[in-house]
Amino acid sequence: MDADWKANDKLTEHINYWADRVNAIKDAGLYFFNQPVDELRGNARAVVRGREMMMFASYSYLGLLGHPRINEAARAALDRFGTGTHGVRLLAGTLRLHEELEETIASFKCAEAAVTFSSGYAANLAAVSTLVGRRDTVICDKLNHASIVDGCLLSGAKLVRFKHNDMDDLERILQSTDSSGVKLVAVDAVFSMDGDVINLPRVAELCRKHHAWLMVDEAHSVGVLGKTGRGIEEHFGMGDVVDIKMGTLSKTIPSVGGYLAGRKDLIQMFKHASRAFIFSAALPPAQVAAAKAAFEVILDEPDRVETLNRNAQHFTTGLKQIGFDTMSTTTPIVPVLCGADERAYKMVQRCQYHDVFVLPVVSPAVPPGLARLRSTVTAGHTSQDIERALDVFETAGKQAGII
Ligand code: PMP
Repeated sequence: MDADWKANDKLTEHINYWADRVNAIKDAGLYFFNQPVDELRGNARAVVRGREMMMFASYSYLGLLGHPRINEAARAALDRFGTGTHGVRLLAGTLRLHEELEETIASFKCAEAAVTFSSGYAANLAAVSTLVGRRDTVICDKLNHASIVDGCLLSGAKLVRFKHNDMDDLERILQSTDSSGVKLVAVDAVFSMDGDVINLPRVAELCRKHHAWLMVDEAHSVGVLGKTGRGIEEHFGMGDVVDIKMGTLSKTIPSVGGYLAGRKDLIQMFKHASRAFIFSAALPPAQVAAAKAAFEVILDEPDRVETLNRNAQHFTTGLKQIGFDTMSTTTPIVPVLCGADERAYKMVQRCQYHDVFVLPVVSPAVPPGLARLRSTVTAGHTSQDIERALDVFETAGKQAGII
């Protein structure tokens, strides 16, 4: 019957696949995604399902959420410009505030210029799809963020992936890549599921040697790496070696949006040739002002970066002493390896039962059998918070059969 055609349609099959998968986890009482937070109390506490939990899943690395100077800047922008921009940047959407933020980012990243987008995802999509096309090659670390991969798909360029942080494999690929097109090497600075850092000195050297452009996604390294939180080049004591410095305004920076920083002529090209900039609305004023103030606070309050490093060390060392496998992390992203997806769900259930808010990462986001908690520690935690969380992790780990 024509009226029933949807019942047997391929799309219905696909919808049903997802319904079955999600409902099976919900029925088992192990569904922890999309949980609404009712209230945030500072950077280290959240109220969820009416209970105050210690937050160990937030990207507010430097504890800047709710900072009075940042809130005040957002309020002032709201009063001056209202809540929206009603236009794309190229036409009526650009405010003086956007330009000020871009100058601030450029100076923070020691770059000539910067351009902002409505998200980090859009910034990665824009960067890759504007820089390369069908005759070109993008060479990615295997664990790069999905938005870089999506940018490659959009560009039509050939995508080649090297083994995670394996410089011999990268060199092998660079040597065998056709030199008639553009070669773009794109890597994350800090890997978002594992917490380890890319070997930038070697990547930069190989790019120079094999005439490849270098793009680095600093979503998890701004505010985290480097003595003053400026990111991966500062961390390795290197000058300006990254051609396209990408970052987000939604992790350390308590706002929303993404940016690309680099040479003036490159940034000018993005402002005129990238579809994500041309065809999508400008960032709202309050978020722009908040982001600008946040970069200034990072430089004015350098103790925060120190506290973050101390807390990350405390948390990871504590977990290892208890017997957890924290994989290769050296940053505040601390994976806690659980194994099968069900074990990760169980571990989260036990942690949340004891009022520690953490979340699971399961396949396909990570390979099957390597499901984990992806916990994060911030400068907003006290050492007592960390000690309490470690106690809860130990109890939960035993109950879930992980330690
Ligand atoms: N790159 C990395 C490494 C990320 O972790 C994320 C966010 N999950 C993004 C890009 C996308 O940034 P945004 O959330 O601002 O879109």
